[in-house]
Amino acid sequence: MNKKPTILVTGGAGYIGSHAALALSDASWPVVVIDNLTTGFREAVPHDVPLLVADIADQPVVETFILDHDVGAIMHFAGSVVVPESIANPLKYYHNNTAKSRSLIESAIRCGIPHFIFSSSAATYGAPAKSPVSEDTPQRPINPYGMSKLMTEIMLADVAATHPLNYCILRYFNVAGADPKARAGQSTIGATHLIKVAVEAALLKRDHVSIFGTDYDTPDGTGVRDYIHVSDLATAHVLALEALIADPATNHVLNCGYGRGFSVLEVLDAVERITNRGIVRRFEKRRAGDPGALVSDNRAILECLPWKPLHADLDEIVAHAVAWERKLGQPGGAFSNVMG
Ligand code: UDP
Repeated sequence: MNKKPTILVTGGAGYIGSHAALALSDASWPVVVIDNLTTGFREAVPHDVPLLVADIADQPVVETFILDHDVGAIMHFAGSVVVPESIANPLKYYHNNTAKSRSLIESAIRCGIPHFIFSSSAATYGAPAKSPVSEDTPQRPINPYGMSKLMTEIMLADVAATHPLNYCILRYFNVAGADPKARAGQSTIGATHLIKVAVEAALLKRDHVSIFGTDYDTPDGTGVRDYIHVSDLATAHVLALEALIADPATNHVLNCGYGRGFSVLEVLDAVERITNRGIVRRFEKRRAGDPGALVSDNRAILECLPWKPLHADLDEIVAHAVAWERKLGQPGGAFSNVMG
């Protein structure tokens, strides 16, 4: 068998990128990481994985790194991920997510990289009229985060039409949980994503959870999302890579979710159940830029890739998030240099 090419993971010190790097290593793919460590953690990158601390838009440095390591494909995770922040600071999102992706894609083309996997988002669908959402649903983002991701999707499609590169766009629904062996997890400071926030509240790291909106057109009035375990998502990336290599003439656009949704209240109930602790709930107004329900139609990924989710269970997702959060909180625990 041919030697496996090296995979460049941008944002590999971040939450999803670090799990993808682990999944690649577990499947015996050589991995290298570029991360500027603005939100990522050096400790999230295994010691045997080369880490370039640099910005993905620093083209000379990035291109030298790609050529030095004989990179054969790029998984691009680096970017900013908080919807409310994107509304407050749209130019940050168009810079970090759109402009810097343009720069990285240009570096990929200049270095002759044949395969590109891009972290996109269900936020590109906006507030779809119908749920579950299939890949051919019109993309009408309702916040700059979603728009910044959609613009990168468009660039990739245009570039692939005229350069020797195929791509897979993975549109993530709500990513949560942590590596089942607790080798990685979500370490974000000042997290805003629901499961992390709720777990922090249950472990007394914050005093309450705000519930943003109780008047959505959903069964209990709170927002409904399709929560996907980060390790299942990471596996999808490895399988997408294999599909791109197996058929270089084909591109893929795939939703990543389990095809079922949970409300904010159901998530809080699950966190209380798993931790056996109460959470103080504060009912508040809707948060700007939030759709009511966003659930994937995941038939395309199930048909296209040999993807078999192993952790499609809300309680398991929460249990792994809790285990990681406890590890973060321990003296000498994961990333204690930044947490303590
Ligand atoms: N949410 C909430 N309180 C929080 C964080 C989130 O009620 O502290 C709700 C949010 O309005 C949405 C769902 O939880 O309905 C998921 O939001 P999150 O920020 O986790 O992800 P998003 O879907 O915005 O990417």
